[in-house]
Amino acid sequence: MNKVFSADNIVEVGLMRSFLEQHDISSELRNHHSSSLMGEVPFTSVWPEVWVSANDSERAIKLISDIQRDIATGPDWSCSNCHESNPINFDICWQCGKR
Ligand SMILES: [Zn+2]
Repeated sequence: MNKVFSADNIVEVGLMRSFLEQHDISSELRNHHSSSLMGEVPFTSVWPEVWVSANDSERAIKLISDIQRDIATGPDWSCSNCHESNPINFDICWQCGKR
């Protein structure tokens, strides 16, 4: 297993996992039990992490870097439910999960 992604919030990690799943890459969530320590332990080691099998890791890293570049350049869209702005690549709201 290889770590391919981590973020400081569980929602972003969950979205990245479902993104990988759409590309037939199954992933594993690690460190998520540590999230209750957030704010008390300022180390990235407690961030939730996405791990994939070694066979998938190269493709997963490529997909993730592609989507992160697109997020950086694409226009945001506003959620009709909570009015949060979302990256163009996310087809559900990261805030409330609404499509
Ligand atoms: Zn929303």
